Amino acid sequence: MKAWQLEDTNGIDSYVLNDVPEPEPGRKEVRVKIKNSGLNHLDIWVSQGLPAPKHLPHTTGADGAGVVDALGEGVAGIEVGDEVVIDPSTSCGNCTYCLNDEIVYCNDFGILGEHRAGTFAEKVVVPTINVVPKPASLTWEVAGSFGLAGTTALRMIEKARLSRGETVLVVGIGGGVSAAAMSLAQAFGASVYITSRSQEKIDWAVSQGAAGGFDSLGEFGKEMSDFGGADLIIENVGPATLKQSMRAAKPGGRIAICGATTGPRFELNLPVLWFKQLELIGSSMGTHSQFARTLNWLRLDKAQSTVAKVFPFEELPDALRYLDSGEQIGKVALAH
Ligand SMILES: [Zn+2]
Repeated sequence: MKAWQLEDTNGIDSYVLNDVPEPEPGRKEVRVKIKNSGLNHLDIWVSQGLPAPKHLPHTTGADGAGVVDALGEGVAGIEVGDEVVIDPSTSCGNCTYCLNDEIVYCNDFGILGEHRAGTFAEKVVVPTINVVPKPASLTWEVAGSFGLAGTTALRMIEKARLSRGETVLVVGIGGGVSAAAMSLAQAFGASVYITSRSQEKIDWAVSQGAAGGFDSLGEFGKEMSDFGGADLIIENVGPATLKQSMRAAKPGGRIAICGATTGPRFELNLPVLWFKQLELIGSSMGTHSQFARTLNWLRLDKAQSTVAKVFPFEELPDALRYLDSGEQIGKVALAH
């Protein structure tokens, strides 16, 4: 079968379309023939060795959906021919965290395509816990691409205890996590504002029900305060925007952070933190039940996952360059 593999860690150019043997499912594993997969920045970072794969060549790809085509030993409740969505999170399954549905804290927590062969292939083998029936109402493109970003967004919202009627500010709309956070926060009954450097993206967000949008590079903290401030700020930009994000927060507001695209370090003004009594909340990836709840919001059509563009499977490097350009709104997908 064909698989996109990293033969080196020199960036996107290290991807090669190889002929590889079909993987065989082991005990309590299934093999899925992929119909659609989804791209994440993770696929670029891994290609740069951040983190480096344990073995080369390595097949990346966290998100995917398709049809079960082989069963390993001891698999029950799943049949060949079942249409499934793949949950990208893997873990040991036996530690206290795993048994308490907090797999994100497991020592062996991993992501498909980072820690084991991923979805940028004709077929992928995953543990049975990682396949969920595909709702008929979801397109293959959405089913194959919402997983990692959508679940990450939902976990941020849940960890930050968002409740109906609150105001949310999503900093830097455009990427998959931000677009999902906006839609999910609206599903929770929040009023959502966004920031972007692009007027086109601000206009798109307003067309999707955002209450308003501000320039990411401007004084959006003050502008948000003029509208009463935000109870929750969704952040994955970091040093370039965090000062304004703290300013945008209401007293007692929460700032949930799942990434920092502008760098890892930020000088925190501690008096602002304590006088405004803010909460900084770290969050990363999501649990199996958060994946299932994200899927359910989509199934019920209460939240949407926007797919910006679908590329043919053979054009993965072009699709990754498009993702890297940051021009897109929502997810970038591959049709296999
Ligand atoms: Zn565990």
